[in-house]
Amino acid sequence: MGLTPAEPAPVTVTGRCQGCGACLLTCPHHAIRPHGLALRIRAELCTGCLECVEVCPVDAIDVATGR
Ligand code: SF4
Ligand code: SF4
Repeated sequence: MGLTPAEPAPVTVTGRCQGCGACLLTCPHHAIRPHGLALRIRAELCTGCLECVEVCPVDAIDVATGR
């Protein structure tokens, strides 16, 4: 048995991110983690609640389509 392919996360952090950290503090599931100088959404933890999208001051978090 191989590894299960990673599910795409319901949200993605785009290059518009200013690194303010508001989304990290807001996410109730701690699904947003620093990854080098960028942020990564951990798909296995993200529930798609979209609280991060609402709190981001620069609309840097996109909601994936087709879900
Ligand atoms: S959608 Fe909700 S669970 Fe997913 S990263 Fe944003 S705040 Fe966290
Ligand atoms: S709230 Fe928006 S600008 Fe701030 S760290 Fe998160 S994605 Fe980046």
